[in-house]
Formats: sequence, structure tokens, C-alpha cells
Amino acid sequence: MSNESPVAHDPNCLFCKIVAKQIPSKTVYEDDLVYAFHDINPWAPVHFLIVPKAHIASMAHIGTEHAALMGHIMVLIPRLALQEGCNPYPEGGYRLVTNTGTEGGQEFHHLHFHVMGGPRPWLRG
Ligand code: AMP
Ligand code: ZN
Repeated sequence: MSNESPVAHDPNCLFCKIVAKQIPSKTVYEDDLVYAFHDINPWAPVHFLIVPKAHIASMAHIGTEHAALMGHIMVLIPRLALQEGCNPYPEGGYRLVTNTGTEGGQEFHHLHFHVMGGPRPWLRG
């Protein structure tokens, strides 16, 4: 991750504060590179977020130096989705969403993947 140290931290970023445990959250999974936690305002019976521990503002900031990190996250998502109660594919499944930028609906500018699933109807989405 070249110039992005795994501990890159933006003191003004909500998700950096969550990663640093300065703001409480309900942990789903944690390792050296990523942190996953329950969304505080869930749209679906299962709704958690997975973020890199390093402060990366959005998908628009991803380059080839992040390929291993992105692969790590993509491989974790199916496992964590089942762990958190998403039903198996194809009858179950989940929705994976990454809002990017203002027109993409991104509210918090620390890269995060929403994983939403569970029986319908959902509150939104
Ligand atoms: P986005 O609109 O893609 O930036 O999504 C931000 C998400 O962060 C929303 O779904 C919020 O409900 C969620 N969120 C905001 N504050 C917290 C928090 N303190 N703990 C967990 N999730 C949060
Ligand atoms: Zn951050």
C-alpha cells in the first residue's frame, strides 16, 4: 500500500475514530488491515460495514497499490455475510454497496462496503 500505512489515521474522520475504538461500535470482524462493524442505522436485518483500517477516502482513491487490500476485503465479505446471518445463495444472498462521492451518495469519506441481507422486506433498499 505504498504511501498508505495500515495505521494512516485522520483525526477528523468518524470511521478512523471507530477503528481506533475512540467511538464505540459492535464488532463483526477485525484483523490488521480491516475492521467490520454493525451499521448504527440498519436498512436490513443484517447490515454491517467493512472498512480498511487505513484512512482511504473512497473508491476513487483506489490504485494498484491497494489490490491486495481490496482482494482481502472481497474474500472476507462472503464469509462475514454468512457469519452475520445472511441466508445462503441463491435464495438468500446479500447486497454489497459502496457509495462513492457526493453524487454516489457517500456521506462518510472513509472507504466502506455496506453488506445488507436477511429476509425481506427491508427498511430500505
Ligand atoms: P454512506 O452513506 O455510504 O457514507 O454510509 C454511512 C453509513 O454509516 C450509514 O449507513 C450510517 O448509518 C453509518 N454510520 C454512521 N455513524 C455510524 C456509527 N457511529 N456506527 C456505525 N455506523 C454508522
Ligand atoms: Zn478515516
